[in-house]
Amino acid sequence: MDLSRTLHEGMCMNRTGYIYREEYMWHNTGIAAAYLSAGGYIQPDLQHAESSDSKRRINGLISVSGIRQHLHIMDDFKGLTDDQITLFHTKDYIRNIKTMSDDRGGDAGELTPFGPGSYEIATLSAAGPLVAGRALLSGKLDNAYVLNRPPGHHAEADRGRGFCLLANGVLAAMNLRREFGDLRIAILDWDVHHGNGTQKAFWTDPTTLVMSIHQYQNYPQESGFVDEIGEEDGRGYNINVPMPPGSGHGAYLHAIDTVVGPAIEAFKPDLIMILSGFDGCIIDPLGRNMAYSETYREMTLRMMSLADRLCNGKLLVMHEGGYSAAYTPFCGLAVLESLTGAHTGVEDPFREIFSGYGMQDLQPHQAEMIAKSAEVAKLIK
Ligand SMILES: [Zn+2]
Repeated sequence: MDLSRTLHEGMCMNRTGYIYREEYMWHNTGIAAAYLSAGGYIQPDLQHAESSDSKRRINGLISVSGIRQHLHIMDDFKGLTDDQITLFHTKDYIRNIKTMSDDRGGDAGELTPFGPGSYEIATLSAAGPLVAGRALLSGKLDNAYVLNRPPGHHAEADRGRGFCLLANGVLAAMNLRREFGDLRIAILDWDVHHGNGTQKAFWTDPTTLVMSIHQYQNYPQESGFVDEIGEEDGRGYNINVPMPPGSGHGAYLHAIDTVVGPAIEAFKPDLIMILSGFDGCIIDPLGRNMAYSETYREMTLRMMSLADRLCNGKLLVMHEGGYSAAYTPFCGLAVLESLTGAHTGVEDPFREIFSGYGMQDLQPHQAEMIAKSAEVAKLIK
């Protein structure tokens, strides 16, 4: 294995922060079958779909590929306090999951099992993006990747949903505003599932542009539609890009180029966040889209270009889903190579096969759906 690293010629290196805590991997989602708890006719498997594997292995490739030495490691911080968490979550919800966590664990709401001590781990997971955001806004770093767990984008104010206990991205945005004053924040969620928690949190807020590219009606099935555009002052500042199952490389890039890009240009953010799930990848067990490592690389580069032009490159990426333990490492490395500007020389061994799948390029029915979201993007003043 060649572990040597070369830099792209002429490309300058960015100061990229990286957050990963061993505690994140200790959040225990128990035995299950896929995402359903075992019992009845559901035979127990050793792992829940949202186990630590797919994230631990991303960190593994980050070490082995050599890209780690281009990263500014930030791992010395505490979990969020109740005061910071109640900016979004209700006191009753926090008390409830804390009590269960102090005992044997339980379920935070809908499809969100957790074990003993997971509350504290969730507060650390939510602290990661805030710590990284501070470093960006104070000018110490250019961009950052937070490889945190449990994920956050499905969590609502008063209940956990879809493996998410605390709304990591929402809490980062709200706490950064408390610390740094008014900020215009653009959030892109490219997880294959709809970012319902983020949508609800900023539904009437015109200072937060919330965009979600996801598989149409995967999870949650009652939200993520194109006509959900925000209300009151926030009308037009919530953009959903639901895509048909089977959407691949071409569809993702088309969504960035025709919806996300124009929306961010019009919005003029002070900070861009990406809620990065890799479950849009072609062999993810919980998604039916066809992205591969180059899709994530290209999307990251486009977002960096927007950030460079509009907000001094400030791009804060935090982890969400992604359940193919075999493949997520190569998606993660593609994003980190883009963020740092470093090239490790590690090739995605699946790339030739995945890029060769039929209909990776933009299909007419995908373009038709994405065009509806592009209309919503025009509402931004
Ligand atoms: Zn997801």
